[in-house]
Amino acid sequence: MSAIDGLPPLREVIARHDLRAKKQLGQNFLLDLNLTAKIARAAGDLTGCDVIEVGPGPGGLTRGLLAEGARHVLAIEKDARALPALAEIATAYPGRLEVIHGDALEIDPLAHLTPPIRIVANLPYNVGTELLIRWLTPAAWPPFWQSLTLMFQKEVAERIVAQPGGKAYGRLAVLAQWRTEARIVMTLPPEAFVPAPKVHSAVVHLTALPGPRYPADPAVLNRVVAAGFNQRRKMLRASLKGLHPEIEALLIQAGIAPTARAEEIGLEQFCALARGLAAAPR
Ligand code: SAM
Repeated sequence: MSAIDGLPPLREVIARHDLRAKKQLGQNFLLDLNLTAKIARAAGDLTGCDVIEVGPGPGGLTRGLLAEGARHVLAIEKDARALPALAEIATAYPGRLEVIHGDALEIDPLAHLTPPIRIVANLPYNVGTELLIRWLTPAAWPPFWQSLTLMFQKEVAERIVAQPGGKAYGRLAVLAQWRTEARIVMTLPPEAFVPAPKVHSAVVHLTALPGPRYPADPAVLNRVVAAGFNQRRKMLRASLKGLHPEIEALLIQAGIAPTARAEEIGLEQFCALARGLAAAPR
């Protein structure tokens, strides 16, 4: 079956450009263009948006983004072998696809884009988590992007959207949910990828809130959450002891039982504690 964009099927593209997946680049490709179109739709209405795609590889998701109407796609790819395949896509969508060859961890794509900007990526898990944390912790809020639509290992996706009370709830959940609305919008079995990874995957869609859910200084909140979850089995009066000599009183003032553990504490209480700490004389 020929694709709606008139380009060849992805299996053919991969064979022609000898794009055999390399493990060290975390390459697990999506070859089903119906699926990549569905992921592109999960990113929201792309018409009138510039989209940053990180790790386009042979371009399945890139084709989905363009077919779903993205105004402009800026694709950052580390593997030079993918560039000829991406150039063919750029020719099929004149003026709408720009490809940068490089490491997404080292490139600032902003110079190339006009808001509104959405970010979409199917990346190796470690690169994806590092970029997510950077995108969630800019110097100022709101950030330059409107939404992030990112593929993760399912277990990592569950940590991003986790609620208090379970093992999945930790720093990543607090960081993500403090300033975004985060949802799992799709789960994918290993067979959706070539080659198939060992684990299930999930797409998380994060929409930037105009401001944080509850006021707090980001650095203080980060300190509280890091200390609390680094020793998540300990009671907070012990795990947070190093933050302030009067930590028990500050916990009580924030409405938190000093005997509680970090994984029982919701965002609102963490923020109240961060405010109390910031205001407390030492
Ligand atoms: N988006 C394609 C798809 O869905 O079929 C490819 C996904 S594959 C999981 C990850 C892609 O990210 C590969 O093309 C790989 O070369 C690229 N990649 C890995 N590390 C990268 C980095 N640091 N910067 C940019 N691209 C990277």
